Amino acid sequence: MARIFNFSAGPSTLPLPVLERVRDEMVDFQGSGMSLIEASHRGADYSKVHESAGALMRELLGLPANYKVLFLQGGATLQFAMIPMNLLAGGKPCDFTVTGTWAKKAIADTKKVGKPRVIFDGAPEAFMTLPDPASLQVDPATTYLHLTSNETIGGVQWHGWPDTGKVPIVCDMSSDFLSRPIPVEKFGLIYAGAQKNLGPAGMAVVIIRDDLLEACSDDLPAYLSYKVHAAEDSLYNTPPVFPIWVSALVLEHVKANGGLVWAEKLATQRSQMLYDMIAKHGGFYRCPVATHCRSKMNVVWRLPSEELEGQFIKEAKAAGMSGLKGHRSVGGCRASIYNAMPVEGTKALADFMDAFARKHG
Ligand code: PMP
Repeated sequence: MARIFNFSAGPSTLPLPVLERVRDEMVDFQGSGMSLIEASHRGADYSKVHESAGALMRELLGLPANYKVLFLQGGATLQFAMIPMNLLAGGKPCDFTVTGTWAKKAIADTKKVGKPRVIFDGAPEAFMTLPDPASLQVDPATTYLHLTSNETIGGVQWHGWPDTGKVPIVCDMSSDFLSRPIPVEKFGLIYAGAQKNLGPAGMAVVIIRDDLLEACSDDLPAYLSYKVHAAEDSLYNTPPVFPIWVSALVLEHVKANGGLVWAEKLATQRSQMLYDMIAKHGGFYRCPVATHCRSKMNVVWRLPSEELEGQFIKEAKAAGMSGLKGHRSVGGCRASIYNAMPVEGTKALADFMDAFARKHG
């Protein structure tokens, strides 16, 4: 079996021991004579997995008792709509930071329900920088402040959190979820699509604080209501059993390796290797993102021409490294280096970058 180094932005590389365990248990789950994805979501086997996914999530993030963990379908995109529908019904206000493609999508849906006020707009600087968190002027009477902790396409990441007083932060953590410890108490709601650091596509995690849950609209269709999902422990309808199963195994894997402190240490090490290589060949590679907010999950860079970028991506692929093409909306190169990317994979990429620059620079 030849596994390549997969730098895709999501779906993305998952820990090999987890994939192997899923393979081993796929046909006969722990002697049950059937696959877990064939078993009832109300049966004993699945119930244990469901509980363990929730418990491990709470443990790894250090969630206090007044937060609920929900496993929902519809990806992070459905949350762009569910958050305002639940929290801004009737046209309530919130504050927003528009930091790139994903924040733009989030605010577009928010505008359909509530009244977002933009307190930072990265557009004039092509979304290549973030403000100092301390400079954000949050309205003390607003419902929440929305942040996108890591812009997967632009490669910008918040490395500090604003002090918002009593205003809860609502945060899209899709692409850096579980990559570092976070001060949970600052957040009223955290959401993330699963398909980067957590598991297979087909699920979003929503972590919501009890006071926000209580304030949610009571007039929503069942699936769109956080209250309904929370009351039923994400079992109101058939949950995404396969993503939840694999996520439970990924969470176990992260815990066994040392949790979020371990994840952050590796994320720093991996990203530094690539940013150092970009700096080493500064006349050849160029990272367009401001130094203070460069992402430790999605490293983006340009080469002197699109032709060279194409050649770089093609030759890297031939050398066993895939998924390095930047998002179609921005071009260039991007390496997504989530928790499951081995340090050797990043080292292999850095070495390849070094050799390519020497040859063409
Ligand atoms: N937010 C961010 C930061 C993302 O990176 C993505 C997907 N790449 C999304 C939201 C949308 O997620 P999904 O595809 O799960 O709806």
